[in-house]
Amino acid sequence: MPISHPSLLDNEETSEQIDPQPTYAAILRHSCEPQYAAALRLYSILDGGPENGRARRLSDCRQNAWFTRHVESGEVRVASSACHLRWCPVCCNARRNYVTHSVAEWLTEADHPKLITLTLRHTSAPLEHQISHLYDFFRELRRRKEFKAAVKGGVWFFQIKKSEKDGMWHPHIHALVTGLYLPRRRLSHMWCEVTYGSMVTEIRSIHDPAKVANDVARYATSPGSLVSLPPDDAIEMVEALHGRRICGTWGSGKGISLRPKHECEKGKWKSVGSWSVVMGLYNTSADARAIVLSWKTAIPLPAEITCNKIDEAIDKMLTGGWDEYDFESVYDHERSPP
Ligand SMILES: [Zn+2]
Repeated sequence: MPISHPSLLDNEETSEQIDPQPTYAAILRHSCEPQYAAALRLYSILDGGPENGRARRLSDCRQNAWFTRHVESGEVRVASSACHLRWCPVCCNARRNYVTHSVAEWLTEADHPKLITLTLRHTSAPLEHQISHLYDFFRELRRRKEFKAAVKGGVWFFQIKKSEKDGMWHPHIHALVTGLYLPRRRLSHMWCEVTYGSMVTEIRSIHDPAKVANDVARYATSPGSLVSLPPDDAIEMVEALHGRRICGTWGSGKGISLRPKHECEKGKWKSVGSWSVVMGLYNTSADARAIVLSWKTAIPLPAEITCNKIDEAIDKMLTGGWDEYDFESVYDHERSPP
């Protein structure tokens, strides 16, 4: 053990006995169990059983996980296999953390940012048609001279709910925009013209960028809730949104990044052990404990510490690279201070 990194070895946490059982996937699913169960049910119905297609991919999401160490900084992050399905709550949470950060950063610099909400009159038309119309109307609104004069651009998010009162879908768009003063009456008038009769709009100034960014990031990654819907409604919603964009930027919002970049710098991250091996050794190996502690606290891990040596086959497999793995982004888990 190197004596130059006493903090990794002497910390009280190194003597803490932890349960080696939970997989990385189980830890990530813990905060979203109802959503995960609803998505699994839905994909099982759509793809003919839990062992098929997207249901299988969802079950496999994050099951392969590795502790990796950055060869220069010594930072430890977990890389894991991700399903990237739209309704996977684990993948949604990872992306949401990124979008929240990205939007909050833009909002703090934005000129008089406002939150606009645009709704349609409730109708019993098929949901797919309603969404198509909403998107067309929103595009038309952004083309209008009067709107362009007041709004310089921003970022939009689609959201959908089913009304408990009348049982109808309620698709709407939230947009964070920058620009001049725009009275709600003017916005409602313009929206009424482009939609042939929908009047309901909202516009409000933003005083708490962090909270607003968090709210809209939820829509950006999960436009509706599967948990509260009966299966037929859930299927209608999922199919109506299949292949559609649910958020986007324009004008002054163009710089906002809504998709995390692939964190894998070629050759910079090396495995220091699979999740199961490191956690399995936690109670008996100081190396395993140092890896976990480094991951939890962001204290750099010394180069010589690894659990790979007990499983050379795994080490060899990993020399192929990380192209199919997702790296935790720096926003993904709260790290304790060293
Ligand atoms: Zn996933």
